[in-house]
Parts: sequence; structure tokens; C-alpha cells
Amino acid sequence: EREEPSHFGAGPAQLPTKVLQQAAQDLVNYNGIGLGIGEISHRSGDASNVIDSAKANLRKLMKIPDTHEVFFMQGGGTTGFSSLATNLTAAHVGKTGSTGTAGYLVTGSWSAKSLEEAQRLGIKSEAIFNAKDFNNGKFGVIPPESAWADKLKAKEYSYIYLCENETVHGIEWPKLPTALTDSDVDIVADLSSDILSREIDVSQYSVIMAGAQKNIGLAGLTIYIMKKSILENISATSLDQLRQLGVPITPIAFDYPTVVKNNSAYNTIPIFTLHVIDLVLRQILEKGGVAVQQKDNELKAELLYKALSKYPDFYALPVAKDCRSKMNVVFTLKKEGLDKKFLDGAAAIKLTGLKGHRSVGGFRASLYNAVSVESTKKLAQFVEAFASKNA
Ligand code: PMP
Repeated sequence: EREEPSHFGAGPAQLPTKVLQQAAQDLVNYNGIGLGIGEISHRSGDASNVIDSAKANLRKLMKIPDTHEVFFMQGGGTTGFSSLATNLTAAHVGKTGSTGTAGYLVTGSWSAKSLEEAQRLGIKSEAIFNAKDFNNGKFGVIPPESAWADKLKAKEYSYIYLCENETVHGIEWPKLPTALTDSDVDIVADLSSDILSREIDVSQYSVIMAGAQKNIGLAGLTIYIMKKSILENISATSLDQLRQLGVPITPIAFDYPTVVKNNSAYNTIPIFTLHVIDLVLRQILEKGGVAVQQKDNELKAELLYKALSKYPDFYALPVAKDCRSKMNVVFTLKKEGLDKKFLDGAAAIKLTGLKGHRSVGGFRASLYNAVSVESTKKLAQFVEAFASKNA
């Protein structure tokens, strides 16, 4: 039992109370079998059922076409972008015989880190653009396609990577750039902080990767939605070929074809974590699907941005209007010395998790799926009242 929280933390995030109550029960005694869901073999029938159910529900919710595989792996967003670099480069080798260059659209700290990691691993990779170069050295805009689209033609890109929602800076791609969707380059996207927040056309992506701990569940798992042809291309390479080309070999637990061949249970999958994901998926289905969730999310974002925009001399919104995130609303106070008062005032009426990321400062209100319209209204009212009193 708990009072309904209004927690705006960036992740791990608030989850639906009903889901947690069911999960708590299933942790002790799953389906009346006398054992908890975390105490059974990851290859047992009950565990396989959880894996299959989560896959099927994700397919239904996101309308995932048959061209794409769904699988789960231990880890999170970071194991996601590390393993993507080696696997996707191997896929390109399998398809063309050469490594190509991985291109990254750098719009915030997570896409920047993803590129950094590819380079650290020794993957041939580069930024197609760094959005900082278009905004006085700071993240906060997405440059127009005309500024970078020509680059795509300049060389052979093995894949193009983007982070659909930059959790730290509150920057979200409003839609995939047409320079990518109109070309046949493989689009690889990190959806860790906006998966299931809005409807998307999965067929446009070669790979979708998402850590689970924001919109879909607990930390511990990464979700992958991937074109089957990519898996086939990875399998078409050999270790010798990769070694000859200097492509690092992926550790076996993160080798995508191996994981898929074993229905996401090559090694021990945290089945309780996956069960929580499945419960969240079922809850969104019951609610009416992603379209219904999207409406709520649009309303929430509008409520909060509107309240903040009403006091332009008091609140600063560092992100350009056309790419403001609906999931992570980033703002600062223009007056010095009021930050603590803001956080304390919010906490006094049980609005929590509002402190901005340590690298950015200020505030960040994350409006993930489980944060209600009611909670968001409360926050919007607080934002307005605080400005009136302290301006
Ligand atoms: N990508 C994005 C967009 C994220 O928000 C995060 C985590 N906040 C990560 C990657 C890294 O995830 P993890 O901490 O699970 O490795």
C-alpha cells in the first residue's frame, strides 16, 4: 500500500502502483506454484511463458512487423550502445565485407557517450554533426537537415545512430529525419527514455534499443527490436574475418544472434524484471494502447511547458521549442539563490525527483508514462504559484 506518488525522477522512474502490487505478490508466490518468479529456472516453462508474453505484448503495442525480431538482454542503455557498436559493425562486415564508418547524430550527452564508446572500442565512427556547434557550445537545438544531410552521401556508413530522447538535456527528435528515412542507411535508435510514450513506425528503424527503467519497468534489462536481416548479416561473418579487419569481438552474452537463438535466455535473464515489464505492457494495453498513452503524455507536456512559459522572466527553458522533450522537461530559475527553495517547496507538497542532472543543474521534471495527468497538474500549479510569489 502507498499513497499515489508524484515522482518526476529521470530514472529509475515511478511505476504504476497496481503493477508493483502484482509483482510483489508474484515475487513470493507466482501463479500459485509455491515459488516466486525470481526463484525458478530461466529455462523453465513458466520463465519461457514470461519471455514469450512480453515479446507478444510489445509486438502488439508497437505494431512490430514480422521483419523485426524482439529480444531482451541483461544490462541497460550503456550495455545497449556498447554492444550495438560491435554487433552492427559486424553486420556491415557480413553484408559488404568492409567495416564502413558508423555515423552518430550528436544531440545531447547520451548520443555523445554512445559515440565516445564506439571510438573507445576501436569502432570506425564519427559524428555526422554535434548539435553543440549550432548553439554556442551548448546542447539545446537539433540542427536543420540541410546542415548535415549531404554528409550521408560522402561515404559508406555502416549505420546511423541517434538518441531519440536526450534524457539529461530534455531534447527529443520530433520525428526521424527524412534524410535518414528516405535513404537505405540502417537507423539505430536509443529509445531508453521515450519508448512507448508515442506511436512510431517501427519499420523505419533497423534497430531500436531501450533500457527498461523509465517507461517500461525496473532496471536490469535492455529491450531490442531489430531487423532480422541485421541478425543474419552478423551471423554471416566469422571471427577470423572480424579479427582481420580489426573489429572487436562482442562478448558472448551480448552477441545478438546467440541471444536470439536462445530466446533471450542464453545466460540467466532476470525473469522477475522481465515479468514487471510484461505487467507494465499489459497495463498499457488495457488502457487502450500507445495512442491513448500518447494523448496523456502530450497533455502533460503541454500543461507544464505552458506554466513555465507564462513566466519568461522567471523561468528559462534552454531547449529550442521544436525539439523540447515531452518526457524530460528541463528548466532553470533566472534568479540566483532560489533553487533550494523551489525544491523544498515542491517536496512539501510531495512533488519529488525534480533536481536537474548534475551536469546541467536547474530542474528536470520527467513525465514518463506512469506519471499521471493529476500529478502534472499539481506540478504546473506549483510552478505558477512559485513564480508569482518569488518574482
Ligand atoms: N540512453 C539514455 C537515453 C538514457 O537516458 C540512459 C540512462 N539514463 C542511458 C542510455 C544509459 O542507461 P543505463 O544507465 O541503463 O546504462
